[in-house]
Amino acid sequence: MIGGKRMRRIVVAGGGTAGWMAAAAIARTMGRAVEVTLVESDAIGTVGVGESTIPPLINFNRLLGIDEAAFMAATQATFKLGIQFENWMLPGHRYFHSFGFTGKDHWSAGFQHFWLYGRTRGHDAPYDAYCVELIAALEGKFGHLPGDRANYAYQLDATLYARFLRTMAEGDGARRVEGKIAQVELDGESGDIAALVLESGTRVGGDLFLDCTGFRALLIEQTLHTGYDDWTHWLPCDSAIAVQTDNVGPPVPYTRAIAHDAGWQWRIPLQHRTGNGLVYCSRYLGRDAALERLLGNLEGAVRTEPNHLRFTTGVRRRQWVRNCVAIGLAGGFAEPLESTSIHLIQRAVLRLIRMLPLSAVSPRDVAEFNEQQLQDMTQVRDFLILHYKATERRDSAFWRHCADMEIPDSLTQKIELFRETGRVFRKNEELFAENSWVQVMMGQGIEPRAWHPIAEKLRDEELARLLTTLRENVARTVAAMPRHADYVASYCGAAREQ
Ligand code: FAD
Repeated sequence: MIGGKRMRRIVVAGGGTAGWMAAAAIARTMGRAVEVTLVESDAIGTVGVGESTIPPLINFNRLLGIDEAAFMAATQATFKLGIQFENWMLPGHRYFHSFGFTGKDHWSAGFQHFWLYGRTRGHDAPYDAYCVELIAALEGKFGHLPGDRANYAYQLDATLYARFLRTMAEGDGARRVEGKIAQVELDGESGDIAALVLESGTRVGGDLFLDCTGFRALLIEQTLHTGYDDWTHWLPCDSAIAVQTDNVGPPVPYTRAIAHDAGWQWRIPLQHRTGNGLVYCSRYLGRDAALERLLGNLEGAVRTEPNHLRFTTGVRRRQWVRNCVAIGLAGGFAEPLESTSIHLIQRAVLRLIRMLPLSAVSPRDVAEFNEQQLQDMTQVRDFLILHYKATERRDSAFWRHCADMEIPDSLTQKIELFRETGRVFRKNEELFAENSWVQVMMGQGIEPRAWHPIAEKLRDEELARLLTTLRENVARTVAAMPRHADYVASYCGAAREQ
């Protein structure tokens, strides 16, 4: 055990999405059992991006008792049903990774097996036609389905989300201190962090410190020198430029990820504007050329100055060291392609709450936390690498590099198993389920050579009935949904009037 005192004072360093998600969740969950103080610097500001999310955020908000319509109104959010990937397999090609469930599984075999076999029996409807969320997205529709049947997430203004959480956290007793941290003071005896000393001279002492200082990693790295595992050899993009534009037309319920010859570009439509960004690998594209490319591929008038960002994909070797836990970008960054960073913040915050120490940090908790965190990040990493590796593009040095690069054995196993058998397994509570892997692998051009023999148990008329019924259900459900933009306007309009 390290130390012996009560761990009552939790200090959050940094007030970006990570800092405020942590402060809000801890203050609401733990109440008077702890004191939460958050230090942030207006002069430094936040990373200013991070607007596309994935479905588990719904659970996070529910856990905190957040009203969905009020949250969406406050953050100018739209619904998100998935991501449209354009130019990834080949220029001009597109596919959709939806949050929905495709078709109907048998316990022994996913729907892809029945669909693959069906193609050999003359059923040529695309795999996409069996997924409500996917078809709804492409038709610009959205509606809450009874029994939470629609699986969705949000596209939101990250600054407004942090502000929303701040109001909540302060309402729940969290204290905010504005100022720049000039020094991280260590306890001379234990080597633990004792306090944050601000430029003003103010000293913020604490028992447990959350490093939410973003890429700076002021506590976990600059002070505790934890080390970083670099993943650039697998995830080569290292730069981004973000700008906001006016909306042209009603916002669609999906994010676009448009590949270019040295990376990709995002388009995230919110209620009041669109977020855009060019992610690129600086080895293959210069800063000025990247900016020119981004500005040349926008819809709507530009509202903000370009925000240039540099990053190194990878992971902090340990996320919890002594009495310091890194959350958010301070803990690592696996690039924004599948909108997983805010989710990883959520996982880390909830995991930390489960492991909050009473009187001293247990090295067992630390080891468990670090192992679980690393597993989450490694699984996400593999899924991201898949998008770069499984490509038929050879039209630029960047794509030739991606196609040729060595990949982790865990990913090779996943890809080759799917190619040979059509099977995908979700292991160890992996974030991305079978359905996500199938959509992206097939979307990137990996075609299984076989299917489970159980599909052939169905007689031709049974198979035809199954596939037709599933497709008709999808079409009927989507036809009854309202237009996404109208739905958002009335849903949030009611919340704004209250
Ligand atoms: P930051 O936002 O950088 O916040 C750091 C905080 O620390 C700030 O409040 C700052 O003031 C404070 N701070 C730093 N140093 C000091 C100091 N010395 N004294 C006092 N305060 C200090 N995630 C998604 O889920 N979806 C996306 O679509 C997505 N897109 C992204 C695109 C790009 C290009 C990048 C780089 C990231 C993206 N992310 C995305 C990740 C997402 O932006 C972050 O996970 C999220 O914003 C959390 O950031 P943070 O709070 O860790 O850091």
